[in-house]
Amino acid sequence: MLNKVIHSDILQKKRKLDSSKEESTSPTCINGNIKTNYFSEYEQKYMEKAFELANEALQSNEVPVGCIFVYEDNIIAIGRNMVNETRNATRHAEMCCIDQVNDFCKKENLNFIAVFKETFVYVTVEPCIMCAAALYDLKVKSIIYGCKNDRFGGETVFNVADVLKPVTTRKGGYRADDAMNLLKLFYQGVNPSAPSSKLKRKFKETT
Ligand SMILES: [Zn+2]
Repeated sequence: MLNKVIHSDILQKKRKLDSSKEESTSPTCINGNIKTNYFSEYEQKYMEKAFELANEALQSNEVPVGCIFVYEDNIIAIGRNMVNETRNATRHAEMCCIDQVNDFCKKENLNFIAVFKETFVYVTVEPCIMCAAALYDLKVKSIIYGCKNDRFGGETVFNVADVLKPVTTRKGGYRADDAMNLLKLFYQGVNPSAPSSKLKRKFKETT
């Protein structure tokens, strides 16, 4: 299903670039600073898609984080946390997307370094230390996110930018309360549609 969505977006490559794209590339976010309370229509559109994926993660009993990567006005990767499903602690939404971009580049015969440099990352929660380091290292153009990540945040807990001095611009705060509430729902184990898994019971016992 993921490939289908990505493929359909790639097919839209020829559509004309509208003015909203120009908005996203204008200097509304300043390198090193997080600007809140301003999100262009273009950014809002993609953040809403990221929220859809976060909700999907919650329904699948995964930490509700959703993410999409956009390159030349096309969605080239969509991801959500898959840590429980894959039993792999590195399968964060952003990491899933990075793998998809690599596949996309191979398929389209594109240079992945050049593609990442022009890629916008939309994610519902501030990237963790691991993901922030990876995204900075890949030199993605911009990261737009929802709520802060008080447990593992690559800015909030440990500022990876101090070490890697990224070219990536960042800004957060889009529907931050909603993004945080999704996390709370998960950690409180109150997802009404999730099966009563071991994980859910574990959280109930510890909270
Ligand atoms: Zn992460």
